[in-house]
Amino acid sequence: MRILVIGAGIVGAALADRLARPADGGRAAGAGDAVTVVEELRPGAGTSGTSYAWLNANDPADPAYHRFRTAALRAWRDLAAGFGGPSWYRPAGNTAWAASEDAGARLAARVGDLIRLGYAARLIGPDRLRELEPSVRVPSDALIAHYPDEGFVHGGPAARALAARAAESGARIVTGRRAVRLNADGGRVTGARLDDGRDLDADLTICAAGRHAPALLATAGIALPLVDPSEPGSAAPCLVATTTPVPGALNGLVHGPALSARPAEDGGLVLEADDIDAGIDDAVPAERIEAAGAELLVRARALIPGLGADVAGVRRCVRPLPVDGYPLVGPQLPGLYTVVTHSGITLAPHLAELVAQEVHGRPAEALEPYRPGSRG
Ligand SMILES: Cc1cc2nc3c(=O)[nH]c(=O)nc-3n(C[C@H](O)[C@H](O)[C@H](O)COP(=O)(O)OP(=O)(O)OC[C@H]3O[C@@H](n4cnc5c(N)ncnc54)[C@H](O)[C@@H]3O)c2cc1C
Repeated sequence: MRILVIGAGIVGAALADRLARPADGGRAAGAGDAVTVVEELRPGAGTSGTSYAWLNANDPADPAYHRFRTAALRAWRDLAAGFGGPSWYRPAGNTAWAASEDAGARLAARVGDLIRLGYAARLIGPDRLRELEPSVRVPSDALIAHYPDEGFVHGGPAARALAARAAESGARIVTGRRAVRLNADGGRVTGARLDDGRDLDADLTICAAGRHAPALLATAGIALPLVDPSEPGSAAPCLVATTTPVPGALNGLVHGPALSARPAEDGGLVLEADDIDAGIDDAVPAERIEAAGAELLVRARALIPGLGADVAGVRRCVRPLPVDGYPLVGPQLPGLYTVVTHSGITLAPHLAELVAQEVHGRPAEALEPYRPGSRG
């Protein structure tokens, strides 16, 4: 089968890698497929490269989706083992704390619910926090939780490694070319036209274009229910800052009321905050982006006393955010399949496994709740 994957973020790259590799123990059915990936920029240069990229199943509210995400954490462990423990996969644990009584009650309830679901979650004291994250200072009356099985990924390097392994397995990776439209014949999608006028023909075209998926799918008359980043107050735009290198400042992820932080790939930190994200939209001027980066650094210095870092970069980015928050995965027209999701860093290897199964004729029950057809 000729398979065309559009987009080489973490989702498209993981899928291309999965589809291109030969069958292993009868589980995969990729042998014999001709896989082509088309990527407008380069692998991992889209949202995946700027993502905060926390690997987690930390929300117990929907137990079925929680289970889906814990399966995804296992899929990451397997995938990383296949790469021999790569530096871009960091299962370094996550520490979170709450400073007010209300927030503490919510955190304790979350930990209790997660434990009941069988998830590795526990409340810890300040001594344990000092062992885990010696540089971090939290209020003396804070309630602290630790999630040892969580971690993070460096999204850019991970997507590049997956795309490179797909290429080694025979996939053709076309970079620097945009698919400007889906081609169709008699209601069947037959591939895509590139911005240089070439047509890439395929028996199955898979849209893994992330936040740009709605524009591409619209060329085949399909509306994908993603949050519109241009709407005032949209939850899709957000902001991430990175700092100059501060080796050893953090071991894993830390989540406090005012800041989320984790180590970056070059030894700096990645910083994000929900309240700052809430003020970001398409129209935010450059000065406010810069000011937001400076504010994140102030918060990081409060969290890590003596932090000798500066802001290295601030990037406004856009989440591919389905309106109901759940993945959008499945066939949409004959010859066309879509895989677009928030939490794509967490979910990519698990989705790759399930989608590869479906592409080869074995429906994946685990994907049933996430079909794009009836939602929006
Ligand atoms: C600030 C931030 C924090 C986040 N935090 C987390 C988190 O903690 N945990 C988590 O799991 N997820 C998180 N996410 C979400 C996660 O990063 C995304 O769900 C994931 O990166 C999406 O991957 P993707 O491959 O679908 O998209 P992308 O990485 O955007 O890849 C899509 C690719 O398609 C290419 N493309 C698009 N259109 C075309 C076209 N027409 N032709 C050719 N190529 C095309 C693009 O160039 C791009 O490289 C976060 C996102 C952001 C922005």
